Amino acid sequence: MTTLTRARKHNVSAGTWSPDGATMGQSDLTQDSNHPFGSKVFNGEIQAERLSKDTRKKLESTLAAGEALDPSLADEVAQAMKEWALEMGATHFTHVFQPLTGLTAEKHDSFFEPDRKGGAIAGFSGKELIQGEPDASSFPTGGIRATFEARGYTAWDPTSPAFILDNPNGALLCIPTAFASWTGEALDAKIPLLRSMDALSNSAIRALRLLGDSESQRVFTTVGPEQEYFLIDEQYFYERPDLIATGRTLFGAKPPKGHELDDHYFGSIPERVLAYMMETERTLVELGVPVKTRHNEVAPGQYELAPVFENSNVGSDHQQLTMQIMQNLARKYGLVCLLHEKPFAGVNGSGKHNNWSMGTDTGHNLMDPGDTPSENTNFLFFCAAVIQAVSKHQGLLRASVANIGQDHRLGANEAPPAIISIFLGAELEKVFEAIATGEGDPNTPGSYLKLGTDVLPPLPMDGGDRNRTSPFAFTGNKFEFRALGSSMSLAFPNTVLNTIVAQAIDDLADKLEAQGEAGDVAERVAAVVKESYTQNKPICFMGDNYADEWHAEAESRGLKNLRTTPDALPEVIADGTVEAFEKYNVLTKRELEARFEVWIEQYAVLANTEAETGQNIAKTMILPAAISYLAVLDDAEVDAVEDEVRGLTNDLVAAVRKLEEANAPTELEGLELAEYARDAQLGSLDGVREVADKLEGVVPDDLWPLPKYSEILFVR
Ligand code: ADP
Ligand code: MG
Repeated sequence: MTTLTRARKHNVSAGTWSPDGATMGQSDLTQDSNHPFGSKVFNGEIQAERLSKDTRKKLESTLAAGEALDPSLADEVAQAMKEWALEMGATHFTHVFQPLTGLTAEKHDSFFEPDRKGGAIAGFSGKELIQGEPDASSFPTGGIRATFEARGYTAWDPTSPAFILDNPNGALLCIPTAFASWTGEALDAKIPLLRSMDALSNSAIRALRLLGDSESQRVFTTVGPEQEYFLIDEQYFYERPDLIATGRTLFGAKPPKGHELDDHYFGSIPERVLAYMMETERTLVELGVPVKTRHNEVAPGQYELAPVFENSNVGSDHQQLTMQIMQNLARKYGLVCLLHEKPFAGVNGSGKHNNWSMGTDTGHNLMDPGDTPSENTNFLFFCAAVIQAVSKHQGLLRASVANIGQDHRLGANEAPPAIISIFLGAELEKVFEAIATGEGDPNTPGSYLKLGTDVLPPLPMDGGDRNRTSPFAFTGNKFEFRALGSSMSLAFPNTVLNTIVAQAIDDLADKLEAQGEAGDVAERVAAVVKESYTQNKPICFMGDNYADEWHAEAESRGLKNLRTTPDALPEVIADGTVEAFEKYNVLTKRELEARFEVWIEQYAVLANTEAETGQNIAKTMILPAAISYLAVLDDAEVDAVEDEVRGLTNDLVAAVRKLEEANAPTELEGLELAEYARDAQLGSLDGVREVADKLEGVVPDDLWPLPKYSEILFVR
């Protein structure tokens, strides 16, 4: 008689976790020192203490106007920054940058240099602050480097504050930087974002002048992300080679109790998780990230963290930092933070809502209907520009949120679909419809604001009902681009938004200008808005985006439905994209092509990793488990069970064969390789999974080698 040995251990460490308050301490909130916001940041307050008045003023005006930095300031700033960093315990500094991988990169340099007398002195010059030279050869450049200079350099971004990152064994001064080739081409995510913010500001200021605003000097775009994530016990992570290699489970049957039970959402947060959240938030607050909300999300083990919005560049940097801190600190609590878009099949995935708006340096949010007639006129103008931009560049917006993890979410029955549409809300839609048809509502409801003119209908006070299924929704004083994936950098989606909205604003401004100066500005704006809205109306959809009918309806409206990453990415180099990005000096055709190449390659490499990891697990873990069980069944002589297991085992062998063939090397390259990886490799992997997940339901629990969803998701 064959005996069974248990293939996987019970997780006891998760059950025995106990809080250790000492890691955080009890803060006496009456003490100044216990208000940690920005305490690890080289912020305005610290600069006021440590920089000369003159330098500070120059630096401030540089930042306020979004102008280039005067290099003569660098030495003094570097000196002050170094002294502060040393006092904070830092021994090294690093230029932090965001290469095209979507991750954050850094190279550490010591402050200390030999003084030629056997000792060391701490040095850090203005030049070292302003410019660094990491080894660019290890970062993807999409062919830019091959034909031009081999090197790249990092350049200080004074608009994003430097900060201190603590490690149990020391501290590090982190300087946010941009990363470019020596020929000036952007090799990172930050440069185009900064360029797009400039572009939008220029277009918006021009439009504001036409609308009668002579005060505003600059318009800033803002971003407030809502980050979803999973926390699982570390032991399960280490027992799952698929999670380690790909960030998601390639196998696993749906748990009996899933997210269809609503008890998790906004439910009470388990103690260990809450302890982790508190330390994460405190750390982020020290780093100047304005964390605001935390709660449980839809799926078991899923949570959300959201900061208060900031200008797009700082918000994007802070989001990278947030993801890094979230992942690092989880380990301290015996947890692993999963940022993958779809770690568990059949369980709600993780997204990142990108709240976007634009505001003037005089304090007006241009996406806020406001309470004066002129603010409302402005709002309608800029809102019409957003609708036009999203309509014209719907494919590009879809591409801006494309990655391999997203292919399990977008279009699936839980996330916004792969079709981009806009939800205006019933009241705002009524306003646009009234402008388009010329038939306003004569009975002004109390919730509407008076515009002071008969031409424009009254505006709603509030965004009204919220359609949770829309990928791009107006939510009262901002648009919420809900299609981002949880692992993503904010930089590119916001670069796209800023650039396409800049283009639409200019187009509407041209039309406004063409009308001359005669008559009421509100009347002229209404005419421009009417024309634009009428043309772009098909992008507006108030219904249920998750409904099957929407796919057919969207198709009849001529909207794009780009289901997978290889379908979407070509939009990055489409004519319309190149035209807009070149016009606004955000990215050249070459720089766009470089991104397309890098992202397509990334997709193919990751798909291949998934397919090979899946093959490996199926052959070396799952198949042996099935065969062991067959050996047991052989003695038991229960034919019905034996037949079922034998049948599934044979199916698994066949499916693995097919996957192995798909995984064989190919000559394909670029987009063709990505499409092959999607169809042949990931397609065959799905086939293997289907059988493996059935086997999970028949093979004895003792023999099953992988932790199951029911354990991973429910042990906290
Ligand atoms: P909900 O879950 O209903 O979408 P949350 O309060 O979780 O709302 O998130 C709202 C997000 O929108 C926050 O990150 C907030 O900072 C952000 N936000 C609010 N106003 C703006 C704005 N003007 N620009 C950009 N983001 C904004
Ligand atoms: Mg939201």
